Amino acid sequence: MNIINDDGPNGAHAFTPPGDGAAAERAGRPRQTLLSSSMVGSTNRGRVLQALFDLGPTSRAELARLAGVNRTTISGIVQPLIDDQVLVESDPIPANPGGGKPARPLWFSPKARPICGVLLMPDAVHACVSTLDGKIEAERKMPLPDGNGPMQPIIETIAECVGSTLAKARRTPFGIGVGVGGMVDTDRGSIVTVNLAPSLDRYPLADDLGRRFGLPVKLDHHPRALLVGDRWFGAGRGVKQFAVVYTGEVLGGAFYFDGHLYRGTAGAGGELGHTFVQLDGELCRCGRRGCWDTIATLSWLRREAAAAGLPEPELIDSGRLADMAAGQEPGAEKLLDRYARNVAVGIANLQQTVAPNIFILHGDVVLGGERLLDAIAGHVRAMVPPRPGSTIEFIAGDAGDGAALLGAAGLVISELLQLPI
Ligand SMILES: [Zn+2]
Repeated sequence: MNIINDDGPNGAHAFTPPGDGAAAERAGRPRQTLLSSSMVGSTNRGRVLQALFDLGPTSRAELARLAGVNRTTISGIVQPLIDDQVLVESDPIPANPGGGKPARPLWFSPKARPICGVLLMPDAVHACVSTLDGKIEAERKMPLPDGNGPMQPIIETIAECVGSTLAKARRTPFGIGVGVGGMVDTDRGSIVTVNLAPSLDRYPLADDLGRRFGLPVKLDHHPRALLVGDRWFGAGRGVKQFAVVYTGEVLGGAFYFDGHLYRGTAGAGGELGHTFVQLDGELCRCGRRGCWDTIATLSWLRREAAAAGLPEPELIDSGRLADMAAGQEPGAEKLLDRYARNVAVGIANLQQTVAPNIFILHGDVVLGGERLLDAIAGHVRAMVPPRPGSTIEFIAGDAGDGAALLGAAGLVISELLQLPI
């Protein structure tokens, strides 16, 4: 991470957060970034805030040390953020023996304007108001009317959920971030299509919410909201590259490379559920055949559970199946392993294509616990040829809405504080 001195681009210096900075230094990668002087202020501000997200509460002196600049430069960047009540100096920590001023770590102020996150899934809307450091202060979840029925009741339910949550905010939020469980156009802020709720197709959601609530609105694909949540508040903090994969009723994913979320043109990337794993395979709800979605979602699992004669197949999820496997229920272990292999095939393709190496798994698979995670990891490792120095890591994320909801709110941080995600 670079801090650019006021004296121009030649003064660029680097933060070295744990993990990658020193390696980049050793590799001799270029450190300098050419930016016009008018961009330097907001860019430096973004980089200091990103360092705080990565490192946790950090003193000016430590930030200066990591950036290789003096404290005056850091103070010039952080003082406006303190004045705006975005950051606050916490209580002094006693200095090391031998003197020096006690350090006062900087962190996000509890008085800062909050951020609003909305998770819009085909059957429910979930809204929250969160602090900048990811503490949810208010939230509400409401079921949505039939996604094949008239659009207006769905829209009004979304507006009621968001409006009643915003009414509980201490201060006017910076903005609203929305994660959508369907294809989105991130340039227009509109929904392209939601397979399970077609009434929402082509709905200009960002414009509508912006008009109703008078706030900036940033809309993105649900798996990318998960990724933003991991990047700002979860296991992706300080990590240079990783991928998230979500499984459940639907399947999706997102990528983070070299400090940037990869969206594709107008947000068209990341439709992992509809990558093909089987030519001329089973018919997918998208109308094509052989999508990853057809073999690694709950509908596959429940159908196969019924075929295997497992009890209450319509209620099966990864958690129940893992419990049945642990309890020696006939057929459960075999189905769990088949499901793990089906999830693994898509992940193996991703690893072979872009090698993110770190996969954070969210949704239903998390309920399967270590038993399922280990099975998925085993299959992926068997499918991907080993490479020296390249280990593939799997991290269990969130089975519920929490990570995506915070990530949706995190979209506001990325957008409004001009942080480079
Ligand atoms: Zn499909």
